[in-house]
Amino acid sequence: TSLRSPWPVPARPPHVVIFPLPAQGHVNTMLRLAELLILRSGRNGLCVTFLNSEQNHLRLLSFTDAADRFSEHPTFCFKTISDGLPPEAPLSKDTILEMMEYLKLTARDVIADVIAPPPTSSSLPPVTCIIVDGALSFVIDLGEDIGVPVFVFRTISACGFWAYFCMPRLVEAGELPIQGEDDKDRLLTSIPAMEGFLRCRDLPTFCQVTDLSDAFFRYIEDQTIRTSQARGLILNTFDALEESMLDQIRPHCPNLYTVGPLNTHLRSIQLSTGSSPVISSGGRSSNSLWKEDRSCLRWLDMQPERSVVYVSFGSITVFKGKELTEFWHGLAASKFRFLWVMRPGSVPDQDEEDDELRAVTRERGCIVEWAPQEEVLAHPAIGGFLTHSGWNSTIESIAAGVPMVCWPYIAEQPTNSRFVSEVWKVGMDMKGSCDRRVIERMVGDLMTGRREELATTAACMAEAAAEAVSQGGSSWDSMNRLIDDIWTMAS
Ligand code: UDP
Repeated sequence: TSLRSPWPVPARPPHVVIFPLPAQGHVNTMLRLAELLILRSGRNGLCVTFLNSEQNHLRLLSFTDAADRFSEHPTFCFKTISDGLPPEAPLSKDTILEMMEYLKLTARDVIADVIAPPPTSSSLPPVTCIIVDGALSFVIDLGEDIGVPVFVFRTISACGFWAYFCMPRLVEAGELPIQGEDDKDRLLTSIPAMEGFLRCRDLPTFCQVTDLSDAFFRYIEDQTIRTSQARGLILNTFDALEESMLDQIRPHCPNLYTVGPLNTHLRSIQLSTGSSPVISSGGRSSNSLWKEDRSCLRWLDMQPERSVVYVSFGSITVFKGKELTEFWHGLAASKFRFLWVMRPGSVPDQDEEDDELRAVTRERGCIVEWAPQEEVLAHPAIGGFLTHSGWNSTIESIAAGVPMVCWPYIAEQPTNSRFVSEVWKVGMDMKGSCDRRVIERMVGDLMTGRREELATTAACMAEAAAEAVSQGGSSWDSMNRLIDDIWTMAS
């Protein structure tokens, strides 16, 4: 078939080390990339070593079929590493920074161990290159020291990446730091291709600083700028979606590979190679670090078409009890059905249970701790997505043609949500507000008021996404080029 690869079997097949930031959105995406690299290379033996934190590895093995799935690929192996955090520590801005600093200190030893394993412990060929998470770009220097090329994979949107990349320009132009809450509606002028619609409040949260010595601000700025020194930059996006951003990024990172949406890219390859995961996991590759509650799919089966709002805020968002109550009241007042993911630990100070809200939920809601999101978004009963605008959720929703209401929480989510409403026009941006009346109104617009208009644009986007990952599409071609380049390095 078209998938039988043109890549010859070299004497020593390529060996790629994949190193994600140990967080759900990053591990998920980079595992998809790993699976895709192996499947798209055909049976020519591309090897992958995937560095997974001990905690995430245990979770992955407990909650998914990843062990079975990857054991079908004899050229794939996991290597576990420490993330330096205490067991079960929830991820937050502080713990993520702590983890990044710890990985910075330990990465050299970890990578040295993979590059030069004890002679008897590995049957894998020598390492050809490293694909490292963009949040860990310090690995580029390490690669230079040991003579191994490093590709950076930024698991965020191109618009988020470009906003980060322009941090020095914003400082130089005096547009940063911001002068407090009242200054957040100021339009920014020094980010090319975002003039006229990007306000301070739409910047990544780590850039919305009042003090330029902020540790996270400095860390992200440094890691982003280094990306230009990498052998290439891989993004989970597609050309038709973010062309204007990619045009800006290319002069700085000329070797750009846009391979997304990775979930649909992987699924289309699995379907055409007959390598779909087992039916018990919905025939999809799950990389969940929480146990998926598949009963919500049976609940969805009983709901009318396009009648349910899917509500999920990803793996890191933490709510105040009051915010949760506002969402709940807003959803109840909207009168729409809802499927709501309430991750354990996501509401540390939950208000007292409200009997009325519980009754509404029994009547037309379903609450689970973690959902098989890709399958949920593909379900015909889903009419809209109330999301935190994490990039994976956003691009999964775009690929599924599901319009969104966005309530961004952290990182580049405020930039994604601005693009959803102002550029891609596949949803509405609720940032800065958590008021039951606004939630009720926006959910109403999502499901009825603006439904036709949003659903039409979302359907066009989904079509463009499907085209990008099909044979000859932009993401398909980018993946070919990435594999070509890796192959050339190995030969
Ligand atoms: N996800 C899931 N089930 C859930 C909630 C989220 O499988 O109940 C997945 C979702 O499909 C996405 C990832 O978790 O791939 C979340 O990544 P995202 O970038 O959206 O947000 P983050 O968790 O990094 O804030």
